[in-house]
Amino acid sequence: EVKSNLYCTRQEDVQRMLKPRKKFSHKGTYGHALLLCGSFGKMGAAVLAARACLRSGTGLLTVQVPQAGYPILQTAVAEAMTLTDKNRRHLSELPPELDKYSVIGIGPGIGTERVTKTAIGQLLATSSLPLVIDADAINLVAGSEKLKGQLYKKKLVFTPHPKEFERLVGKVKNDYDRLQHLREFCLEYGCYVVLKGGHTAIGTPEGKIYFNTTGNPGLATGGTGDVLTGIITALVGQQYTLEEACRLGVFIHGLAADLALQTVGEIGMTASDVIDHLPKAFLHLS
Ligand code: AMP
Ligand code: MG
Repeated sequence: EVKSNLYCTRQEDVQRMLKPRKKFSHKGTYGHALLLCGSFGKMGAAVLAARACLRSGTGLLTVQVPQAGYPILQTAVAEAMTLTDKNRRHLSELPPELDKYSVIGIGPGIGTERVTKTAIGQLLATSSLPLVIDADAINLVAGSEKLKGQLYKKKLVFTPHPKEFERLVGKVKNDYDRLQHLREFCLEYGCYVVLKGGHTAIGTPEGKIYFNTTGNPGLATGGTGDVLTGIITALVGQQYTLEEACRLGVFIHGLAADLALQTVGEIGMTASDVIDHLPKAFLHLS
């Protein structure tokens, strides 16, 4: 059963998806992304996700961070608008006027405080915007039956690494079992799951699984997942379908890492190198 409905994302597939910028467009044409990221000691995750989002074509970007993160984000990411939470160290509330955004990316560096869990509950209960859910936001959802019950009938993309995936679906026996769980979870909740790894697999609500064909072990280092969250968030905000955003996002993330090989190699590669090679990766496809 697992063997049916398996696909590969190749370069010609994503080249067909990529939308060229229009002559008479403006920043409003390409979406306003909102990132809810970072906590005291983990502001780098917010910086990486924000920079990757901006390098993936978003029209506008707002990042909400805890108070302690305000000077960090404003200094590190000039192009982003910054909102501050009332809490000094953690995400604890939703920003006002959620409707003005086209997508929300949540999770990188947020930690697992109770106040953060409550805010995620409010987000799931009140917002109908598409959500890209990563890292500790996945862990918080996974640990709460109440939050899991709020996942139905929403436009959701989860981006777990294998450990986060197991928190979401339970212990996995082997690779085959992992794919079975991937398909079942996506069918059950009607969501997309980007199951990250050496061969990232994307599950869809129709039960399809797409394997990626780019990337290298240089990506096995802290922060590269936060970069992917920024990329996929930017693409969803630009009105790519969730399926396109996942497939194109994962492909371009791996391609940027493959292009970075030529200058920095696998060993010296950092998440920032991947961001720096995103423009070349998009050029390569256009
Ligand atoms: P995270 O664990 O959230 O930081 O995400 C790590 C990112 O790096 C994901 O996009 C993985 O697919 C990617 N990655 C990690 N290890 C490898 C590897 N050995 N080969 C290719 N990609 C990898
Ligand atoms: Mg991660």
